[in-house]
Amino acid sequence: MDKITIHAMAKINLGLDVLRRRENGYHDVKMIMQTVDLYDRLSFQKKKKPGISLSTDHEMVPCDESNLVYKAAALMAEKYDIKEGIHITLEKHIPIAAGMAGGSTDAAAAFVGINRLFDLKAETEDLKKLAVTIGADVPYCIEGGTALSEGIGEILSPLPAPPFCYLVIAKPGISVSTAYVYGNLHVETLEHHPDIDGMTEAIQNGDLEKMCSLMENVLERVTKAKYPVIGDLESILQEKGAIKSMMSGSGPTVFGIFNEKEKAEAALEAMKETGYCEQCVLTTFAKEAQVVVEEMEDNN
Ligand code: ATP
Repeated sequence: MDKITIHAMAKINLGLDVLRRRENGYHDVKMIMQTVDLYDRLSFQKKKKPGISLSTDHEMVPCDESNLVYKAAALMAEKYDIKEGIHITLEKHIPIAAGMAGGSTDAAAAFVGINRLFDLKAETEDLKKLAVTIGADVPYCIEGGTALSEGIGEILSPLPAPPFCYLVIAKPGISVSTAYVYGNLHVETLEHHPDIDGMTEAIQNGDLEKMCSLMENVLERVTKAKYPVIGDLESILQEKGAIKSMMSGSGPTVFGIFNEKEKAEAALEAMKETGYCEQCVLTTFAKEAQVVVEEMEDNN
C-alpha cells in the first residue's frame, strides 16, 4: 500500500471527575469517554525521501514537530525502523483547543494508520503504550467507543454504547487553556464529586435518562466562572429540550443530548442564532475512533 486516508473521530466526556493532583502535576481522573461522529481527515503517504512532512489546511495548527500527529509519526518511524519517508495531510474539522481531543485523535490516527500503511502488525496494546508518551488521552483515542477512563486517563475499561440519541455540539468563539482550568480547580477543596460509578451502571443498563441525570463535569466550575457564555449556551440547549447539556473536557465546547431529531435541529438553529458559536453541529455517538476511508496500492 502507498497511501491510507483515515477519519479520526472527536470525543466528548459524558462524565468527568478529578480525584487528586499527583506530585508531578498530573491529575488522577475518572471520566466517561464517548467517541462522536465529528472527524478530521488525515492521509499518510509513503515517500522515497526519508523524514516526516506535514501539511494542514488550518492556520492555527502547527506543521512542525509540535503537532501531535507529527510526534506520533516520528515515534512510529523510530520504534519500527521505518526507512521511507511519510507525508501527512491533515484536514481539520474538529474544533481546536475545545475539549474534544482533536490533537489526540489525530495522533491516534497516525499510530493506527502508519501501522497499517507499513504492515507493521503491531498489537493495539503496543500502540497504546507508545501513545501515552504523547498524551494521556491518546490511548483512549486509539480504542474509541464508550469507556471508563482512570489513572491519568490511560487506564481504560470499555463500556457498552449508550442508547441512540442526537447530539448538538457547539464551540463558542473563545479559547480555553487546559492548564489554566486544572491549575484553578483546587481538587482538595472539592466537597462534591460526580457519581461516575452510578453513570457506569446506568450505561451498562442502557438507561439513557438515568445516565443523563448523573452527568457532571467537575471542570465546569472553573471554566464557567471565567466564561459565563458556557452556562448561557447550556441553558439554551436545555430550553430547547435537551435531556442534558454539559461542557466537554476543560471546555469551552458544550453539547446537548436529545432523544428527538426535531428538537435537536431546533436547538442547532438556536445555537447558531446566538452569534456566540464558532462551530455548531448536529451529530450522534460513534463506535469507532478511526474509520479507514481510502487505501491506495503501489503503482509498481
Ligand atoms: P483535549 O480535549 O485533549 O484537551 P483540545 O481539544 O483541548 O484537546 P487540541 O485541539 O487537541 O486541544 O489542541 C490544542 C493545541 O495543541 C492547539 O492550540 C495546537 O496548537 C496544538 N496542536 C498540536 N497538534 C494538533 C493537532 N493535530 N490538531 C490541533 N491542534 C494541535
